[in-house]
Amino acid sequence: MLDLGIAGRKAIVCAASKGLGRACALALGGAGVELVITARGREALEETAAEIRRLTGAKVIAAAGDITTEEGRKRALEACPEPDILVNNAGGPPPGDFRDWSLEDWQKAVNANMLSPIMMIRASVDGMCARRFGRIVNITSASVKSPIPHLGMSNGARAGLTGFVAGLARQVARHNVTINNLLPGPFLTDRLKSSALYQAQRSGRSFEEELALRAKEVPAGRVGDPDELGAACAFLCAASSGFIVGQNLLLDGGAFNATMG
Ligand code: NAP
Repeated sequence: MLDLGIAGRKAIVCAASKGLGRACALALGGAGVELVITARGREALEETAAEIRRLTGAKVIAAAGDITTEEGRKRALEACPEPDILVNNAGGPPPGDFRDWSLEDWQKAVNANMLSPIMMIRASVDGMCARRFGRIVNITSASVKSPIPHLGMSNGARAGLTGFVAGLARQVARHNVTINNLLPGPFLTDRLKSSALYQAQRSGRSFEEELALRAKEVPAGRVGDPDELGAACAFLCAASSGFIVGQNLLLDGGAFNATMG
């Protein structure tokens, strides 16, 4: 296996009992990183922690809590006060029509997908700079580049995070601290399954037909495997990735049609 040069480093991986967060934690654990993983549901989180320990031999602490609250962030940071690696992630906002969304709905989305990652960065980035090593990866969405009509709150809130970190990434890079974003297209997780179900209820197609449609829209002819995103996350966190700064890496099987990113 490729040596990423990060064995013994400490990471907080947010929202990591399932799906993309779990895959990032697993890949980092495989690279010898000590992990603190978070999620709201304690039982699933403990199970995932045990599974990652079993599969990788990594040290894993489960810090249950809602990462979109101060209390949840405090718990994660108490379990790992000096992270070398921070993977920001949380649940995505619900789909729908923007006419139905109240100010409170928007505030929740902006809190979860823009402000919570910024608060985690705020709590950890100065220590990373002082120690001259830091890797911050935000899981955003392909919707930052190519808006998804029924996911307006995701399009908006994540674009806000992307704009903010584009600036900050250039301010901290000289300290060997990088901030980059992973932009997933369709990956086969619970989130994708519930989004396909939502579409199926509206389109009259079956759930399976909706999933097949997702795959058909992707030049790779399939949806993504979460472990593929985990591998990309570990790569961005590698010791040798210090020159990759402020990038938005699309993982979408070629769905975004452009000559250049
Ligand atoms: P998922 O399979 O539903 O997993 C979400 C994970 O996050 C679970 O472990 C969940 O555990 C945890 N979580 C959710 N809200 C949390 C919170 N407030 N605090 C702490 N943990 C929380 O979702 P996923 O597909 O991996 O998606 C992860 C992110 O990527 C989402 O923001 C999603 O919108 C985005 N995304 C996904 C895709 C895709 O195709 N899968 C594409 C584009 C963007 P608990 O519920 O127990 O907290």
